[in-house]
Amino acid sequence: MRRGRLEMIIGPMYSGKTEEMIRRITRRNIAKQNGLILKPSMETRDGKFLKSRSGMILEAIPVKDSSEVLDLVKKGRYDYVALDEIQFFDDGIVDVIEEIVNMGVSVIGSGLNLDFKGEPFNNVSRLAMKADELTLLKAVCVICGRDATRTQRLVMVNGEWRPASKKDSTILVEGSMENVRYEPRCRDCWVIEE
Ligand code: ADP
Ligand code: MG
Ligand code: ZN
Repeated sequence: MRRGRLEMIIGPMYSGKTEEMIRRITRRNIAKQNGLILKPSMETRDGKFLKSRSGMILEAIPVKDSSEVLDLVKKGRYDYVALDEIQFFDDGIVDVIEEIVNMGVSVIGSGLNLDFKGEPFNNVSRLAMKADELTLLKAVCVICGRDATRTQRLVMVNGEWRPASKKDSTILVEGSMENVRYEPRCRDCWVIEE
């Protein structure tokens, strides 16, 4: 039996990962492929949709973990599965995606290349290395306008936005806390406090 393919789209926030994912899904729709579009339920801001910051929108099923992903895929007959924001999934997602691809179903995955500390996410980086096709997207650095490969976390301290510290916890969902925000920056403009 023919195996599926794994395509991974990675980059910082605002680099167009969701936009690119929607573009690839739209093309597969035109080719009459049957897809299962998933997103982590942990990301609650956009509800049952994949939304790009440029306004593209597509319905998606929120799932809580990697075993739910596998269950859903096994329940249907799909040509491909699309999974946005893989960094929010558990590490079991790496083997689950391998299993799905071996079942003959292609996977389009996307996720952050680095956390706000500049370190790769275990699941995203392993999947990126296992991918048949890997795309690293860049955003525009909000400070200098060059290509941005990093995500800056800022925290509100005494009425002022300050770079986050290495000691802060890795995952804080955007929009879930009023005193935290993220922006894309190049390597030179990206700052992390000790
Ligand atoms: P991601 O899923 O990677 O966070 P999106 O696909 O949601 O990115 O959004 C990408 C869009 O964000 C761009 O097409 C552009 O319209 C918008 N955008 C706003 N600010 C920036 C920026 N600093 N760099 C790049 N794109 C930006
Ligand atoms: Mg996105
Ligand atoms: Zn810069």
